[in-house]
Order: sequence, then structure tokens, then C-alpha cells
Amino acid sequence: MYDVAIVGAGPAGATLARLLSRRCRVLLLHRQRKKCCGGILSPESQKMLAKFDLALPREVLVNPQPFAVAVWDLQSQLVRHYARQYVNIDREIFDHWLVSLIPSDVDVRMGTVYRYSQYSDKNSLEIFFTENNEIRSEQVRFLVGADGSFSTVRREFFANRPNPKRYTALQEWFELQTVLPENSTQTGIDFQNDYVGIFDSEITDFYAWMIPKNEQIILGGTIPFGNKTREIFERFKAKLRNAGLRFDFPVHREAGFLFRPLNPFSVCLGSDRVFLIGEAAGLISPSSAEGISSALTSAYHLAQTFDSQKFNLAAYRKNLRLLRWQLLLKMVKIPVMFYPWFRKQIMLSGLTALDHSL
Ligand SMILES: Cc1cc2nc3c(=O)[nH]c(=O)nc-3n(C[C@H](O)[C@H](O)[C@H](O)COP(=O)(O)OP(=O)(O)OC[C@H]3O[C@@H](n4cnc5c(N)ncnc54)[C@H](O)[C@@H]3O)c2cc1C
Repeated sequence: MYDVAIVGAGPAGATLARLLSRRCRVLLLHRQRKKCCGGILSPESQKMLAKFDLALPREVLVNPQPFAVAVWDLQSQLVRHYARQYVNIDREIFDHWLVSLIPSDVDVRMGTVYRYSQYSDKNSLEIFFTENNEIRSEQVRFLVGADGSFSTVRREFFANRPNPKRYTALQEWFELQTVLPENSTQTGIDFQNDYVGIFDSEITDFYAWMIPKNEQIILGGTIPFGNKTREIFERFKAKLRNAGLRFDFPVHREAGFLFRPLNPFSVCLGSDRVFLIGEAAGLISPSSAEGISSALTSAYHLAQTFDSQKFNLAAYRKNLRLLRWQLLLKMVKIPVMFYPWFRKQIMLSGLTALDHSL
């Protein structure tokens, strides 16, 4: 019998497994799939890594390291730069690094897919998963869903809770040299070095981005789930062509899902035996889609409550108070940030932008 089974070894699951090791018997199930992600570490993520006394290994970093985000409103054609101390990373190497930090007493099963559970009695569950094409099962005392957006654990145990809004995310990778505009000063954006957030309400009610990664650049975007994602993404690329950017020859394409909590009730932390952390819990910024920091933070706070061989839901909820307030504040700001007229006024005012303060 395991004390805790964790589903998913992304930043949330890998961190929880590391923090619980040597304190109890942990089983970590991981499907092993490359995460579709922009690979930007926010200041909040950096703070959590500092709290863990972890320094990023050199191989996680990619060039360039941006200190600002260029916000580009395609409809009004305004561009403003805002200071933000990001770290540009290779997400796949980052995830492998976090898993490599898990001590060997944790039973890490790579290439396994969690399927479902059933209560054996009021103190334990039998969990079922696929491993080497076979259905296997284990007895566990607690189950933690760290399985990201569209979490199986969340759907199974908390189907009655409102879900965050769902998006399909697409990313295409290009050789930088093939996309650069003929007249690179036209927009005021340095495409080789700037992290660019792109807004256009005709394309999406969320946002899109361009992120240079060494000699390549990612073009990514989030489209509300259920829409004709590919068609909309192609329309978006056609708009960028008007600015002289040629996104014609992708070297790699990837897709994923994203949760966007627009309602405080869509954050769900768990029940007595089943807990959620990271994006599965709905803990991701609804304004920027940054979710790595919340994954690290929630894993830390759930681990903090583990005492006398059990988790404490009330303490977990209390520990996450600050993060939940921060998410709530972002939810409140959304109608202003994402409404074209308001955004245009804010950008025209130059408020907090670097372009006017230098
Ligand atoms: C396109 C895109 C770009 C993003 N860019 C950024 C960014 O630049 N910075 C940032 O901070 N955040 C970004 N995010 C959000 C961020 O990636 C997530 O919020 C963060 O990874 C959440 O971490 P997690 O550990 O909760 O879940 P995940 O990282 O999603 O990890 C969950 C893991 O569980 C595994 N899994 C799922 N189901 C099962 C199952 N049934 N059995 C076994 N394993 C399973 C998955 O394979 C996955 O590896 C982005 C998201 C998307 C979609």
C-alpha cells in the first residue's frame, strides 16, 4: 500500500513527490509527453525555486533572456514595452530536471497513464492505470491529481464543480531567419530579442505570443476550445504577414490544452482523500497563462500540510489564500485588460510602460 499516489510529473507533481519523499511511500505516475509551453519563468516561479534553494542548471536556459514584454495590439497597431524579469527556458529540459531531483525512494513510473479509482474502504482507494499496455492497480491512502488541464482526476472526482474556461493552445516553431520582417523597425519590436504578447479580439478573447528561443522563434496562441483552431491560427498568421512577418515554414508544431479560471469557484483543491494541485486545481493566471509558479506553490503548500501520515484540506486551503487572492485580482482585471477599447486607452496613456518613462 502506498501512502500517496500522484498523477502527473509536471512541475506540480514532480515537486510534491520530491517534498514528500522520505516522509511516506509515494507512487508517481507519469504519461511522459512533451509539454506544449512558452517556457517563460515568471518572477513568482523564480521566487519559488529560490525558496526551494534550487538554482537553474545552465542547460535549462535558452537565449535571449528578456527583461521586458512587448505588448502588441494588432487591432490598434499599438506597441508598448513593460518591464518584467523573465527567465527564458527549455521547458522539456526543465521538466526533466525537476524529475531528476526526486529522491530514489519515490516509485516513479514513467510511461504510465492513470485511468480511474474506486474506494476500497473509507481509508483507501484502489487506483487503476495502464503500464506497458496492461491495466494494473495499486492500493493508496491518498490520491493527488497533478495532471494539468483536462485533468482525469478532476473530471472523475469533481465533475460537479465548475470548470475553468478551456482553450486549445497551438505553437509553431520557426527558424528566426525565415520569419524576420523586411523592415524590422516598422513595429518597434525587436523580434530577435523581445518576448511579445499579441492581442486581437478577432482572433481570440485571450492572447498569443512570440518567443525567441536560441536560433528559433515560437509563435503560439490560445483559442477557446471547440472553435476551428487551425483555421483561426492561419488567419492570425495572415494578419502578421501584413507586418512583414513570414510564418510560412514551421519546423515543428505542437498543441495542448489550457485552463483559464475566470470564476473563483472553478478553483478546486480537493476533498478528504483526493487532492488537486497545479493547473488541475485551476491554479493558473487567467491574464497571462503563467502556471508554473502556481504549480510549484500549490505543491509546496500541500506538502506542508502532510502530518501524522495525512493531508489537511483546511490547512491547504488556508496556505493558498494569498495565491487565490492574487488570481481573484487578475480575474477582476480581465474585463479591462481584454476589452479592446480599454486596452487601447491604457496603452495610449503609456501608464507603467517603458517606452515613455525612458
Ligand atoms: C501553450 C502553453 C504555453 C504556456 N506557457 C507558459 C509559460 O511560458 N510560463 C508558465 O509559467 N506557464 C505556461 N503555461 C502554463 C503551464 O505550462 C502550466 O500551467 C503548468 O505546466 C502546470 O503545471 P502542472 O504540473 O500543474 O501540469 P503539467 O505541466 O500540465 O503536468 C501534468 C503532467 O501530467 C501528465 N498527465 C496528464 N494526464 C495523465 C494521466 N492520466 N496519467 C499520467 N500522467 C498524466 C501530463 O503528461 C503532464 O506531463 C503554458 C501553457 C500552454 C498550454
